[in-house]
Amino acid sequence: MQIAMVSFLFILLAVNSIMIFKLRDRKWTDIIRRLRNMAFGVAGIIVPEMVILLAKDRQIAYYAFTFYYIAFAWYTMMIFRFSVSYSGYKLFKVYKSPLFWITVIESVAFIWGMFSERFFTITHARWYEHTYWICRPFSIFYVYAIVGYITLNGAVVVLIIAATQSARIYRLKYSGIAIIIALMVASRVNSQLRHQPIMVQAVCFALCEIVIVYMAVHYAPKKLNQRAMQFVADKLNDGIVLYDDEHQLQFVTAGFSDAVGLKGMQGIGNEKMYWTKVISEANVENAWNGRVMPIARDDGIYYYEIQHKELDEDGKLIGTVYWIRNVTESIKNYGEMVRRANFDELTGIYNEAHFHEMARKLLEENPDTDFVMTCSSVDKFRVFKELFGQEKYDDYLIRTAESLRTGLTHIPNCVYGRIGESDFYIMMPKEAFDPQQFLDAIDGVAKAYSTNNFNLLIKAGVYEITDPSNDMLAICNKASMACDMIKGDYGKRILWFDESVQKESMLRERYNAELSKAIEHGEIQIYLQPQVDKAGKVIGAEALARWVHREDGLIPPAHFIPFFEMNGRITELDICIWKQACEKLKEWKDKGRDDLYISVNISARDLYALDIYEHYVSLVKEYGIDARNLKLEITESAIINDLKQHVHLVEKLQEAGFEVEMDDFGSAYSSFNMLKDICVDVLKIDMKFLGDTKNEERSHAILKSIVDLSGELYMKTIAEGVETEEQLEFLRRVGCDIYQGYYFSKPMSVVNFEAKYL
Ligand code: C2E
Ligand code: CA
Ligand code: CA
Repeated sequence: MQIAMVSFLFILLAVNSIMIFKLRDRKWTDIIRRLRNMAFGVAGIIVPEMVILLAKDRQIAYYAFTFYYIAFAWYTMMIFRFSVSYSGYKLFKVYKSPLFWITVIESVAFIWGMFSERFFTITHARWYEHTYWICRPFSIFYVYAIVGYITLNGAVVVLIIAATQSARIYRLKYSGIAIIIALMVASRVNSQLRHQPIMVQAVCFALCEIVIVYMAVHYAPKKLNQRAMQFVADKLNDGIVLYDDEHQLQFVTAGFSDAVGLKGMQGIGNEKMYWTKVISEANVENAWNGRVMPIARDDGIYYYEIQHKELDEDGKLIGTVYWIRNVTESIKNYGEMVRRANFDELTGIYNEAHFHEMARKLLEENPDTDFVMTCSSVDKFRVFKELFGQEKYDDYLIRTAESLRTGLTHIPNCVYGRIGESDFYIMMPKEAFDPQQFLDAIDGVAKAYSTNNFNLLIKAGVYEITDPSNDMLAICNKASMACDMIKGDYGKRILWFDESVQKESMLRERYNAELSKAIEHGEIQIYLQPQVDKAGKVIGAEALARWVHREDGLIPPAHFIPFFEMNGRITELDICIWKQACEKLKEWKDKGRDDLYISVNISARDLYALDIYEHYVSLVKEYGIDARNLKLEITESAIINDLKQHVHLVEKLQEAGFEVEMDDFGSAYSSFNMLKDICVDVLKIDMKFLGDTKNEERSHAILKSIVDLSGELYMKTIAEGVETEEQLEFLRRVGCDIYQGYYFSKPMSVVNFEAKYL
C-alpha cells in the first residue's frame, strides 16, 4: 500500500516536473516565474511526504515532517504572491514582504524546534488498516496553522476581488483559480480535523497545483480568447454567418441579427431561415460576391454588402463564412457625394460641371435643333450683398432657382444651372426662347428684392449657338460676355452676343490688364471742364478722367469707367484722379489762384471700398489745400444705395469743409423723395435728362421746379450739358446758379485749361 501511494506521489511529482519544464518555453513573465516557483514548492511538499510514508525510523520521519511544514509555509506564501501578481492588485503588494519574513521566521523556528520536538510530536496511527506516521501538534503549532489559513484565504480574497471588479468575460480567469485555492483550504481543514495523514492534503495540493497551472496558462486564456472573439463578433455591426460543410447554419453574430432587426424573432431557427433566404437570393445572380443587397426594414431601406469565403482544411471543405457588411451609410453618402458633385449646394440646381455635361449631351442628342445659351446675372451684386447681407442674397439665388424650376418645366430640351456667384445659365431651343417672357420672369423675382433705395437689376446675355461643336465653356462665355457688357448700363437689360460684343469684351480685358501700368506711367489724366457762374465767369472745373493710351490715343471714360465700376477697379483710378486734382489745386494756390475749385467724381464703389472721410481729410492735409476748393460729386444713385449711411458721411464731409454735390440729379426715380433725408450743398442736373424730350415745355417746368425747390432747401444748382444759348438763357431765367457744358467748353487738358483761364 505504501509503495502504491509513493508511486502515486511520484507520478504527481513527475507531472509537476514536466510542467515546470514545459513552462520554460513560455514567455518569461512574472506569472510564469511564480507558477514555476510554486511547482518547486509542491515538489518540496511531495518529497518529504514520500519520505514520511517510507520512513521506518521515527527521527527521519520527524525531520521529514519538519521539512514538509517548512515547504508548506513557503508554498502558501507563493500562492499568495502569485494571486497578487495574477490579479494585478498593487494594494496587496504591501503584504508580500512581511509574509516573506514571517515565513523565514517560521522556517528558522521549525529547524530550531526540529531537534527538541517543540511544536509537534509524531506517533503511529492506523488509517484504513495501515500504519502511518501522523503529527500531534502542540498548541503553539496552531499559530503556524493559522498563518497558513490566513495566507491561503488571503489569496482567495484577492482573486475574488479581482473577479468582481473585472469585466464579465474576465471573471473566469480569477474565479477559477480562487475556487481551486479554496479547495486547497478545504482539504487542509479536512485533513486537520479528521487527523488524516498529511498525505491526503499533499496529494490534494499537488493536484490543485497542476490545475492552477493549467487554468492560468492554458484554459483561462484560451476561453478568454474565445469569449472575447464572440464578444467582439457580437458587438460588430457586421454580420458573420458560418455554415458547416453540410450548409447548416452554425453561427451568426448577434450584433448583426440585431442590426437587421432579427432580434425580436430570436431562435436560431428563424435566423437560419432568414439567412438561408438572404443568401440564396444573393446566389440568384451568380456574381454576387461583393454585391450590395437592399433589405427593407421598418425604418427604411438598408444596404448590405455580402462576401463569402469557403474554408477548407487540407483541401476539404469545412464550411462557408458569409461576411455581411452594413454599407447603408456609405451608400447614402455616395448618393450625397454624387449630389454634391453635380448640384449647386445652395440652390439645388446643376452646378457648372454638371450643367456643361448635360448641355453638351443635349447638343449632341439634338443635332438639328438650334439652341440659345443665356446668362443672367445681378447687376452690382456686390452692392446688393453689401446692402442686404449674404443671407438675403442667398435667398434671392434660391428663389431664382425655384422660378427656373417651375418656369422651365414645360420647355422640352432645356437645361439650366448656377455658375459662379451670381450667374444663372439656361440652354434651350431657340424657338422656345421668348426674350420678353424671359425678362418678365427674371423681373418677377428681382422686384421682390428692390426697395426704395435699391433697384435690383438683372442683366441677361444671349448667345445663339452657331457652332455646337465649340467648347461648352466658350459657349457659356459668349453669353456671359454679352451679359457683362450691359452691366452698369441702366437702360439695357438684354444683349445678344455678336462680333462687336466679342471685340469690346476683349478690349475690356486688355484695359483691365493694362490699368495698373497706365496709372503708373501717367496715362490716366484729368481733363478739366470749366464751370461758369451767372456773370459768365469761370469759377472752377470738373475733373474728368481720360486715358491717354500710348497706342490707342485718347480714350473717353465711357469705354473704361463703367467696366471698372463693375469690376471694382474704379477706386484705383479715382484715387489717381483725386491726387492729380489736389496737385493742381496746390499749384494754383501757390500761384495765388485759390479762388478756383475742382470737383471730382466719387463712384458708388468707392463708398464701400474706402473710408471716404478719412481719405479726403488726409488728402487736403497732405497737399496743404483748402477743403472748400475740392468739391465732391457723388451720383444720386450711389447715395440712394445706402441712404442712412451716406447721409452721415455727407454730414461729416460738410463739417470738414467739403462741398458735396449730388451728380446726375433726376436720373433715379425717387430723387425728390430723397431730398427730405439728405442735405447736399449742390444739386447737379444733367440737361440730357431733360433736353431730349419732345415736350420741351414739360421739361422746362420740371427744371424750374428743381431749381425753386433747391433754393428753398438752401442748395445751389449746377446745370451740366449746357450746349446752346437758349438753354443758358432759360437756366439763367429760372435762377440756376452754375453752368457747365460744351457751350462754354469741352473738357480740355490741364495745359489748355491753364492757358485759357489762368
Ligand atoms: P459725369 O460725371 O456726368 O460727367 C459729365 C459728362 O458729361 C462728361 O463726360 C462730360 O464730358 C460730358 N459733358 C459735359 N458737357 C456736355 C455737353 O454739353 N454735352 C454733352 N453731350 N456732354 C457733356 P465724360 O467725360 O465722357 O464722362 C462720362 C462719365 O464718366 C462721367 O459723367 C462720370 O460719370 C464718369 N467719369 C469721368 N471721369 C471720372 C472719374 O474720374 N471718376 C469717376 N468715378 N467717374 C468718372
Ligand atoms: Ca460728374
Ligand atoms: Ca453728371
